[in-house]
Amino acid sequence: MRWPVMGTVAQMTSRRHADERKFGELFVRVQASYSRVEKLLSAWNPESELSRLSAAGCTNWTEAASPDVRPCYAAALRLAEESGDAFNPRIGEKLRALGMGHGRYSRFDLGAIAKGFAVDMAAEEVERAMGGRYFSLLLDLGGNLRAVGAGEWRTGVRNPFRGVDASQPEICAVITLVGGESVATSGNYERFVEKDGKRLSHILDGRTGEHVSGIAGVTVVTPREYGAMLADGLSTTLFVLGPEAGAAFLKRRYPQALALWIPDDPASPRIIATPDMAYRLERAAWPVASPRM
Ligand code: AMP
Ligand code: MG
Repeated sequence: MRWPVMGTVAQMTSRRHADERKFGELFVRVQASYSRVEKLLSAWNPESELSRLSAAGCTNWTEAASPDVRPCYAAALRLAEESGDAFNPRIGEKLRALGMGHGRYSRFDLGAIAKGFAVDMAAEEVERAMGGRYFSLLLDLGGNLRAVGAGEWRTGVRNPFRGVDASQPEICAVITLVGGESVATSGNYERFVEKDGKRLSHILDGRTGEHVSGIAGVTVVTPREYGAMLADGLSTTLFVLGPEAGAAFLKRRYPQALALWIPDDPASPRIIATPDMAYRLERAAWPVASPRM
């Protein structure tokens, strides 16, 4: 099942949907859950709660937001604090201050974390609806995946260079997710702007407001305790920090997260992975190295 929502494509796959009616019911729940998050957190829709708070000059975001979505604001602010603003939801404000905003950005931007948050909300709903019964479901919201229920899912890491060279393989490694785990990818190929023939990533360094260069893609795997929201937020944070500072950051703050970076160097493609991520990778198309720490 695939459908458009939150400016991207959602997909829901069930391994055992012998019970078609049950799957249909879960589908409706997941769909409603995403739509609700979109209505509250969209930076593009002027009617969203986020946009209304932004227009009203809000400063206490977490307290002002609806109780359901407070964890998303809180997580974004915490990641900003922990990363020294490499991850920075106030990027809109920052860009405006630098004269770069073009009025396109909401003052607060949860685009780096809201999709993962929506996946966690939907996963909770599904688990509640299924009680203790056996099921195996994969939720995917624009590259934010979570394995819900039992069972393993094999997922591919997309080759970020495929867009510029179609002879490249589509997938550059395979990661198997076990029940409860999430995986998120931030890539400069997903969305980007072109300037003077150069691709500029849609991720900015939250400390400076500059476009981040040098990294083509980051993939993060998180355990159930962290969830899809942190996988999403961390993939963006680690894109900004790069492999060396990023691996040190994980070790200090999120030791249970696994991460890989693909340097933006199509001439000699390689993967830089934390040790537990390197251990998890299958069928890596390129050499795998450790971050220098
Ligand atoms: P993702 O695709 O999850 O890595 O999120 C990228 C989106 O997050 C961008 O399209 C912006 O809306 C937003 N963003 C860009 N740079 C940052 C940053 N440094 N901190 C937080 N959000 C950002
Ligand atoms: Mg993200």
